[in-house]
Amino acid sequence: MKFGGTSVGDASCIEKVVEIIREASQECDVVVVVSAMSGVTNKLIEAATQSEAGNREPVAVIFEELRKQHEASATALVHLAAERRSLGQRMQAIFNEGDHLCQGTILLRELTPRARDSISSLGERLSAPLVAAALAAHGVVSEAIEATELFVTDSCHGAAEPRMDLTRERCQARLSPLLKQGIVPVLTGFIGATEEGVLTTLGRGGSDYSATILGSALDADEVIIWTDVDGVLTADPRLVHGAKTIPEISYREAAELAYFGAKVLHPKTLRPLVQSGTPLWIRNTFAPERPGTKITPTGSGSSNDGGVKALTAIGDVALITVGGPGMLGVPDVLGRTFKTTATIQANVLLSSQSSSQNDICLVVSSALAERTVEALRREFAQDLAHEKVEHVNFDPDVAIIALVGDNMRGVSGIVGRTFGALDRESVDIIAIAQGSSGCSISFVVPRKDMKAALIATHREFGLGAESTHSSDEMAVDTDATPESAPANGQMNAANLAASAD
Ligand code: ADP
Ligand code: ASP
Ligand code: MG
Repeated sequence: MKFGGTSVGDASCIEKVVEIIREASQECDVVVVVSAMSGVTNKLIEAATQSEAGNREPVAVIFEELRKQHEASATALVHLAAERRSLGQRMQAIFNEGDHLCQGTILLRELTPRARDSISSLGERLSAPLVAAALAAHGVVSEAIEATELFVTDSCHGAAEPRMDLTRERCQARLSPLLKQGIVPVLTGFIGATEEGVLTTLGRGGSDYSATILGSALDADEVIIWTDVDGVLTADPRLVHGAKTIPEISYREAAELAYFGAKVLHPKTLRPLVQSGTPLWIRNTFAPERPGTKITPTGSGSSNDGGVKALTAIGDVALITVGGPGMLGVPDVLGRTFKTTATIQANVLLSSQSSSQNDICLVVSSALAERTVEALRREFAQDLAHEKVEHVNFDPDVAIIALVGDNMRGVSGIVGRTFGALDRESVDIIAIAQGSSGCSISFVVPRKDMKAALIATHREFGLGAESTHSSDEMAVDTDATPESAPANGQMNAANLAASAD
């Protein structure tokens, strides 16, 4: 069972988590993975960035806030003096480590990927002992364990990959004896360590991935991701009012949704389960009586009208165009374009090419847009000078909308209906891409229209609650907008990430 940031957001949330674990542990063996408390990883990364800039004051303020937040929860959850003291000592040691890491960064004015990982890992290292102590206070024998002991990864800081053979060995050796004794292990999500013991992180939102890595390593019967929504919904409920919970979807559908920005799952979450076919559940910590979504190798097969099962969007992306009439004569433009993006490790989320080769467009994350454009301009410098390639440009204000459903391939008219729905809302479609698997169709639209495009498409394919009236949708949606969104209601993935951490 994995509990996300909002699920361990404060003492009253942790009480709910404890109840869920307590009940489940009476029925079967449970291993718990926890995220940092909501908002903590963002703050730690801010502290790391401020340290690099040499700003002592904001770093001190952040650590003071974090200390208060964790102490308040510890006080509310753990009442026995001895238990509270030992939790306090463990937390203090972690805060001291954070202090040393930031002081070192301030002195050097350099934030290495390794130091950044170590600083951003502190949240999980604090929440695991907190949850374990809360469990103990409610009579559930538990032990907090740092995943650096168990998860062996490569040294790719910020996006580490597990070495499953070693990870499996260590997880089984360390956790099986605990389970045999009825002890509930509480592991830190998000982190691991290289074989040499250097701490790594799996990437933002990576605790989901930690849970399935662990599920696979332990041959678990099922993995449950407990979060703050009822399951995988037909669209992000913060953007589309009336989005419905999907009872069952396939691994591929879930992976596609995650890839195209559905924050409810980290994009790599399904990978460790593919071989075993282990079911993955998404359930609501705050409404544990609801069934949630079951993610299985083949899904239920049933989908709404039109084969579309769910929608998703990514807001913080940019569209890069390599184009011009002269491109017809330039050799291997496509190959050179993708070689360039691969060299700078820019993940291309979507690409399309017009038939005469005179326009290739790529969508990459906003953070990488300028670097990608510079690299492409270097690659095509000679061709640009001879005006064979007329331009390498980018539009920073776009979004991707993706339609997902295993059965879309067999259904005609999906693209036409989407065009119609978007046209009625006066949303321009800038580019479109359909994978050969037929499991997703993605559209690039102006970012300012992202939400309207989602709402219109959601309605067109009858994905939501029937009674929702379109004007109500728009009105209620504003309430659903997280505080950090810009005043005009425009939303992007960065806002979403910042709002939920
Ligand atoms: P956690 O902290 O539990 O990991 P996240 O904030 O990472 O939770 O993910 C849950 C959030 O994902 C939800 O609150 C919801 O706003 C967002 N989300 C985006 N798309 C979807 C979707 N299709 N179904 C459910 N939730 C979604
Ligand atoms: N705490 C980490 C993050 O905010 C990992 C996670 O929550 O899954 O990215
Ligand atoms: Mg998450």
